[in-house]
Parts: sequence; C-alpha cells; structure tokens
Amino acid sequence: MKKTIRILALVFAAAITIGLFSACGSNDSGNQLVFGTNAEFPPFESVAADGVISSVDGTQKFDGIDMVIANKIGEKYGKTAVINNMEFDSLLVALKNGQIDACIAGMTITEERKESVDFSIPYYTATQVMIVKEDADIKKASDLEGKKISVVQGYTGETVVKELGFEYETFKKGTECILELVNGKCDAVVIDSATAEKYVADNEGLIIVKDAEAFESEEYGIAVAKGNTELLEQINAAIQEMLDDGTISSLAVQYTEEA
Ligand code: GLN
Repeated sequence: MKKTIRILALVFAAAITIGLFSACGSNDSGNQLVFGTNAEFPPFESVAADGVISSVDGTQKFDGIDMVIANKIGEKYGKTAVINNMEFDSLLVALKNGQIDACIAGMTITEERKESVDFSIPYYTATQVMIVKEDADIKKASDLEGKKISVVQGYTGETVVKELGFEYETFKKGTECILELVNGKCDAVVIDSATAEKYVADNEGLIIVKDAEAFESEEYGIAVAKGNTELLEQINAAIQEMLDDGTISSLAVQYTEEA
C-alpha cells in the first residue's frame, strides 16, 4: 500500500514537473514580440481560424497583410510575433503602458499621433474613399453635404470628415457602418480604400466613390513607444527589405484578390 502511494506521489510529481515545463514553454513572453492590432480591418487584419499569427495566449488566430508583416519582423528580430487584439482607440495607450511592443493596424502616420508614439518608415499608401449605394447621387466629397455619414470612431476617416465640416455618426466597427448603409440608415461610409474594396466585394449594391482632391493620400506605419529606437530600427530594416524585394506589394495583391 505504502509503495503504491509512493509510486503515485512520484508520478504526480513528474506530472507537475512536466506540466510546469510545458507551461513555461508556451508562455515564454521574453521571446515574444507583442504586436497590438484591431482585427477589424481587412485585408490588413482580421480574426481567422486558419490565420498566420496567434494571440498572446494562443487561443485566437489572425490573418492579413499586417499579420504577415508582423511575422516577418518577428523572424528578423529572432522572436515569435504574437497579437494582442484590442479596440483601435486603445492601441496608442497600450503602447505607452508597455502592454504591447509595437502597433500594426493599418495605422496612418499623423502629426497628432506622432506626439505620443514613434512611427516606422511608411509601408503602404492609402486614401479615404466613400462607400455609397449604387444609385446614390454622391459623386464627389462635396456631395456629402446634408447627407448621413457613418465613420469608425478614431479612424482617420472621422478626422477627414470632421475637417471637411460635415456632420457624421461614429461606430465602433467598419462592419457596423456598412450595415447602416446597407439598411438605408445612412448615405455614405468614409473609410480607407483597401478596406472599402473588401466591404464592397462582400456586399452587393455598394460602390466606391473616390475624390482625390478632397481626400489626400495617407501612409501606414508601425508605431512603437516613444524613444524605443532599438526596436524601431529593426522594424525599419525589416520594412525596407520587404519594400525592396516586393514582399509588401505582392502581399497587397494577394490579400486584395482574396476579397
Ligand atoms: N488608417 C486609418 C487610421 O489610421 C484606419 C486604421 C484602422 O482602422 N485600423 O485611422
């Protein structure tokens, strides 16, 4: 009897030891490079069961142009890139708090954001566009006057519409804006070009209206905490390499074609 107990105790101890070791292995945050994103922005980032990158705790996966870029930066840095998915509005605060190492979220480099974080070199050029119903009489930005406009809170789309002086309503997600439009509750959604294309491909009866004069081009960058030059240099080197060898442009084609 005593022997059985001793054997059981040994087995138990071994199990705990193995358990502890494997727990260490899967939770080795020292070797992780944590990217913050808001996975509501296809083709740059979205939740995907068969995605290319995992959440910090390994329970979720994500796919998109930014997600592949994050992986490549991780590889170059000798770390495993992982994702902390949060609201877009929380990203810059999370950087400041050290909750994430970098932010990759189709984020436009703006003077205002530069006051609180440092940005990498640009890796993608976009512009705001209008999504309207096929039969709408909106052909240019000035036609938005008096119309019901939906934008996502905190996106540059909101800033642009505000600067143009139009009234608008904000939503938490791009998909919520699109639902408003599809249901006839608003007349136009102002959002980034590549994401707009994805939404138009997924929803019948919608078209994109561009107005290059009203909407200036924007450049996406990866943000790090102010003064984190070591990481920023690594990120810049990785981006430069991916721009030079065509990785980013082929990713853009690949992920937009999937729309
Ligand atoms: N480019 C836009 C911005 O920076 C939208 C980004 C996003 O939704 N992820 O505000």
